[in-house]
Amino acid sequence: MTADAKATCHCGSVEIKLTLPNGIENAERCSCSICSRKFSAFVGVHLDDLEVLTGKSSLKEYTFHTHSSKHYFCSNCGIHTHHRSRMSPTRYVVNLSCIEGVKIEDYADAPYFNGRDHPKDAE
Ligand SMILES: [Zn+2]
Repeated sequence: MTADAKATCHCGSVEIKLTLPNGIENAERCSCSICSRKFSAFVGVHLDDLEVLTGKSSLKEYTFHTHSSKHYFCSNCGIHTHHRSRMSPTRYVVNLSCIEGVKIEDYADAPYFNGRDHPKDAE
């Protein structure tokens, strides 16, 4: 995995350029109400390291609960590509399964973040 990577939705409308200075590290899953339904592993990137190249008009935004995290998905194929991290507001969280070249089975053991009892809910 090089520093530059590309993520796409399923239909290809949405193309996202990622800069991963150290490749994919600290891959995680999350047990919150939305992530558990998606069951995708993810990786965090700095806000500056994600650029939507194509398909901005296809991306729909979804928020819930505190509405502090914006979740983005392709309105054509329904695939969630990324969202704003609630824990780290300076970061996006990217669906690992959308990143070209990733073999998702390599991340079967990604540890869980306890989003079900999200620390921000206790503030
Ligand atoms: Zn799509």
